[in-house]
Amino acid sequence: MTSELSISVAEAASYLRDRYGLGVVEASVIGSNEDINVLAALADGRRVLLKVSHPGVSRGSLEAQNAALRWLAASPDVRLEVPLPCESTAGHDVEPWTDAARLARVLTFVEGEMPSPAVRSPAGHSRRLGSAAGRVALALRAFEHEGLPEGGPWDLRSARRVLDDAAQCVGEDGDTTADALAATLAAAEARMGPVVGELRVQPIHGDLTADNVVFDPAGDARGVIDFGDVGRGWLAAEIAVLACSLLQHDGDPIAEALHAAAAFDQECRLDDADIVALWPLVVSRAVVLVASAARMLAEDPTNEYAVARAPLERRMLARALSLSFDEAEILARAALGRLATPPVAVSPMVAGLDGADEADFSVTSVQHQADGWMQEGHLEVTLLRWGNSAGTTVTRYAEHRLTSRAIVETLPRSFAIGIDAVVREGALVRAPADGIVVSGGGARSASGDVRASIGVVLDGGATAWARGIEPLRAAGERVRARDVIARVTAGRPSDSDGHAAAAPQAVVGIGWCLAAELEPPGLVAPRAESLWRAACPDPSALVGREARHDPEQAPGDLIARRAAVFAAVQERYYDAPPQIERGWRHHLVDTAGRAYLDMINNVAILGHAEPRLTHAVAQQMGLLNTNSRFHYEAVVEFSEALAARAPDGLDAVLLVNSGSEAVDLAIRIARAATGRSDILALTEAYHGWTVGADAISTSIGDNPGALATRPEWVHLLDAPNTYRGRHRGADAHLYLTDALARLDALDADGVSLAAMVSEPIFGNGGGILLPDGYLRGLWTAVRERGGVCVSDEVQVSYGRLGEHFWGFEQQGVVPDVIAVAKAMGNGYPLGAVITTRQIAEAFAAEGSFFSSAGGSPVSCVVGSTVLRVLDDDDLQENARVVGAVLAHGLRALAARYPAVGAVHGMGLYLGVEVVNGGPDQPDPEAAAAICVDLLEEGVIVQPTGDHKNVLKIKPPLTIDVEAVRRFLAALDGVLERRQSRAAM
Ligand code: PMP
Repeated sequence: MTSELSISVAEAASYLRDRYGLGVVEASVIGSNEDINVLAALADGRRVLLKVSHPGVSRGSLEAQNAALRWLAASPDVRLEVPLPCESTAGHDVEPWTDAARLARVLTFVEGEMPSPAVRSPAGHSRRLGSAAGRVALALRAFEHEGLPEGGPWDLRSARRVLDDAAQCVGEDGDTTADALAATLAAAEARMGPVVGELRVQPIHGDLTADNVVFDPAGDARGVIDFGDVGRGWLAAEIAVLACSLLQHDGDPIAEALHAAAAFDQECRLDDADIVALWPLVVSRAVVLVASAARMLAEDPTNEYAVARAPLERRMLARALSLSFDEAEILARAALGRLATPPVAVSPMVAGLDGADEADFSVTSVQHQADGWMQEGHLEVTLLRWGNSAGTTVTRYAEHRLTSRAIVETLPRSFAIGIDAVVREGALVRAPADGIVVSGGGARSASGDVRASIGVVLDGGATAWARGIEPLRAAGERVRARDVIARVTAGRPSDSDGHAAAAPQAVVGIGWCLAAELEPPGLVAPRAESLWRAACPDPSALVGREARHDPEQAPGDLIARRAAVFAAVQERYYDAPPQIERGWRHHLVDTAGRAYLDMINNVAILGHAEPRLTHAVAQQMGLLNTNSRFHYEAVVEFSEALAARAPDGLDAVLLVNSGSEAVDLAIRIARAATGRSDILALTEAYHGWTVGADAISTSIGDNPGALATRPEWVHLLDAPNTYRGRHRGADAHLYLTDALARLDALDADGVSLAAMVSEPIFGNGGGILLPDGYLRGLWTAVRERGGVCVSDEVQVSYGRLGEHFWGFEQQGVVPDVIAVAKAMGNGYPLGAVITTRQIAEAFAAEGSFFSSAGGSPVSCVVGSTVLRVLDDDDLQENARVVGAVLAHGLRALAARYPAVGAVHGMGLYLGVEVVNGGPDQPDPEAAAAICVDLLEEGVIVQPTGDHKNVLKIKPPLTIDVEAVRRFLAALDGVLERRQSRAAM
């Protein structure tokens, strides 16, 4: 909107008074892409919209819009309110604007709720939108007006021209270059080619998206607005525009888009040509949006609307292209219920599979070994290996498989909609019933192997497919049940080592498609699953097997069971959490076969399922696991290893099972050593759940009542939060001044401290470093008073900081007592206190200390192995190098997004402040929403801090630059889309 075209509210009010005789009480300019809209509240309580159109808009098209509005208002089946033109005092419903170059109209205002741009579609929303669009399209079918525009930039019949016009404005980076868009559009046109002549042309709204539908408070569509794009166009474009817009959301956008199409179809039936054209039109619309945005931005780089829309439009395009046209059409037919019925009786396409072993490729399968599943092509290789040892093998229908793509793709193709079978070379494939042959894709490979597919369209329309075979019949041939149609050729190495099996075998895929003659892929993304199941039902009968009837567990079931029995005080990540059942290095895998980057697990320092650790635990568990009162080597070896890591003089080790226990024990030891009981701690800290550790934990993020409920032996210093606290930036040194004054005050009150307990880095605050010299000055003062200095190293030690193995090294100090846990056991419960011999001996005066499992052989083997792997793999150095890349990338995001206030920490212990303005406006809602959005992108992150607004970034130390880049790209996308939605 350029300034010379803008109009003032006062101008609008006097225009409405003079031309329309309307008394305006209040008015405001509201956003619009091209027109200028003024919403005016009238003296009689009504509201009207004054629309001043762009100079290029013709009177005829405005008259056509007005006529269309009246037509819809008079069509009872539409059941939707529309704005209605008001007549001027001269009796016109289009009037010149004051400058005469533009035209103005006054429309009634459709009251209702405009949902704010949503991250995901509310339940049922897409269907309601589709239904509204269907009713509008149906009603407009019989509407005629000579002024109806045609062939404008939003008419999808002009997509090619729009793209050509915009081509030189489209950037040369990324996936959306002009060439890429042109190729994409060409593919869509080619797909529509055979039906384009049959597509119905009629008046359509042209932009019927969620932005142009108002809802009532119950969530039902109440009215449709903004008829600025009304014109003649393809009927199918009306629903394609809506479907495309729904692809910007998180969740299951493809299913949502198709549910909208199904609801449209209920009101305004789509014919076969429309169904074929639907997805190509969705793609075309996305191309037009991306190209138009580029052109708008080239013409006016400050066009905020275009800037805001661009990332969402790119996302629509990417989502539209995540399916092949065949796949999209299969799903569309499933959504619209246009599916064939498979015959009741079929004979097997491949014989001898009725007794075959069933392979388990699910995420929890114990048959996947270590990282074997991460190798490209592992499914086939593994299947062949199993087939070779077990004879014939088949996979399971509707299984969510663990595939290597999960590591690199946000939504890997993991859901099996067919069955794969390992069969011997030369086996024959037969027609399952009478039908006509259709051929699919496939080609002869370099090894001479024929990997083609063949389908038989059975009477009734269901198609049975076999892939990975050599076809013996040509497309169009009629075949009878049990006729040979293809043959299995192996001609490829039979297992991963290249050993040919005694009888060469090959993997053959068998599946149904009930949607036209289309060939479905064997694996699809874990989305729109019920549509896939409907279109491609269980093909067990095609391999001569009984269909499996697994009781399906709805995702909510396990959550409900958890809620019923697991005390709710124990939090759970996410309202709708993925079910995580496998881990590998810095990845976590859910039961749908999606892998998430684990950016939060500072415990699994070596990553998940570390094989050396697994092996060591299994071996020791099989030998001995008892308590440390017995004499065995593991406890000696591990204690020596720990003491060797600690600074000189700290060589007495006590082994426990957790951080809480370590902190609690440290407090007891300090008290025993000093004969005093008072403890000095910092606010905003968390030290554990046991009585002692909890007493010194004051994070109000964890316990809102913490500060008011401390026992009298706990004395607190203000957290030296240099970002948000009392002293910031260059004043940070004043925290020490304050702390020393507090010690003096405690002296004056006659308080004698047993110890000061703190983290060496402000962990709970999100990794904020303490001010330089803070612990040095404070600990000196504590020691002068006879107190003991305890460093809680539970979170920040073990090399996580990159530069340092222990956190206290960052402050250049040496504690008297170290409390450590978490990373020590890589998730196995392990904790330790390391102190001086003298202090440990003072503790002995209280009797003996014993922890049943602390120091057990297995836990000690775990502890020693963790330290060894940490060294062998140089993980501390990795934390330094990769942490620097990560911090650099996060700081670059902080520079671009005002929502990122600061990046704290070092190494692989970082915190990202999410704020709404500055340090004093922490934004926990945004932080929580970012975490949910990141989950969608395959990243696990959670907020921390007193305000729960700091994203804690502390992945396993195995993380590599590639994963860091993936994380940064995901966060970038999430922040960009949030900014876009906020701007709209
Ligand atoms: N100290 C610190 C600094 C911690 O972060 C934690 C746990 N978050 C603990 C102690 C308690 O450790 P655990 O959960 O192993 O008992």
